[in-house]
Amino acid sequence: MDPAIREELSRIVTAPVQWDCPLAGYTSFAIGGPAEALAKVRDRRELAALLAFLGRTRVPWRIIGRGTNLLVRDEGFAGVIILLGNGFRQMEFGRCRAGSCMVALGAGCSLAKTAAVCMDRGLTGLEFAGGIPGTVGGAVIMNAGAWGGDMAAVIRTVTVLGPEGERVLCRDSLDFGYRCWRDFPEFGGRAVVVAVELELKVDDPQEIRRRHAAMQARRRAGQPPGQGNAGSFFKNPADDAAGRLIEAAGLKGTRVGGAMVSERHANFLVNTGGATAADVLTLMRLVQDKVRQDSGIELEPEVHFL
Ligand SMILES: Cc1cc2nc3c(=O)[nH]c(=O)nc-3n(C[C@H](O)[C@H](O)[C@H](O)COP(=O)(O)OP(=O)(O)OC[C@H]3O[C@@H](n4cnc5c(N)ncnc54)[C@H](O)[C@@H]3O)c2cc1C
Repeated sequence: MDPAIREELSRIVTAPVQWDCPLAGYTSFAIGGPAEALAKVRDRRELAALLAFLGRTRVPWRIIGRGTNLLVRDEGFAGVIILLGNGFRQMEFGRCRAGSCMVALGAGCSLAKTAAVCMDRGLTGLEFAGGIPGTVGGAVIMNAGAWGGDMAAVIRTVTVLGPEGERVLCRDSLDFGYRCWRDFPEFGGRAVVVAVELELKVDDPQEIRRRHAAMQARRRAGQPPGQGNAGSFFKNPADDAAGRLIEAAGLKGTRVGGAMVSERHANFLVNTGGATAADVLTLMRLVQDKVRQDSGIELEPEVHFL
């Protein structure tokens, strides 16, 4: 990276910029090469200045939340990786009216912690998110969901910040799909989700806790503990489950280098230790080929690539 660009980056971002920073430590897969620069922005003002600068200089950038749905390539990223700092962690509860309550969240909040706080307050709608790692911003981009619930069902507004400034988008005008925000590219594509407003309903706290406990028990029973992964690797095809198709193809336990199809849940590709992104990508293609041969179904990754 040009020394003048490095210097300006260090001037714009208050926290020290990390140069040639390995990204493995920033992903739940624990895989990935270095980013040329990793910059944690303090607040919206700093983010706006950074995006404007990166836009002017055409330096590539990408934002990551907790990296829990991300496979970072072994070559790393030639550009700037942006992380959201403490100025993006606000959580404010509006007054409850007619059984509904608005919750304003910074995009850097932990989704699981947010769900826990809301449940403690007797608010329903986020029980599904109790065990989903990652940030609120990442969850909006992914339309994270489980057990029939998803972010799209509770979002009221999304605030995005792009090179052209900030926009508050109403849920009614947004098109969310299964594990995706379909029309995000139309709203700047490479913009950053900085805040979200959710609308949750008031409910009996005991009922909420009971529902949440049942979901957590199912999650614990179904997911492989203790190995790097990014959750479900493939999207479920219509009227079927990716895990079922992979298991039926006899692929549980299949290995490529340090990457393996989990013995516990076939839709989890896990890092058994020392896996490279190339291992995971080769395993991914092997799974897609075998499932296509067996069932004619093309599995589409849910995981994003960087
Ligand atoms: C053990 C485990 C269990 C999981 N279970 C589930 C589950 O049940 N359901 C489910 O839906 N997912 C699940 N996931 C996947 C993952 O946790 C979710 O997709 C989560 O919402 C991703 O959030 P993140 O902050 O980690 O996003 P990241 O992985 O960091 O990023 C995901 C994508 O969003 C973009 N992005 C992140 N933040 C922003 C932002 N503020 N503005 C714009 N773009 C942004 C990134 O560039 C990337 O393209 C699981 C993952 C793991 C490891």
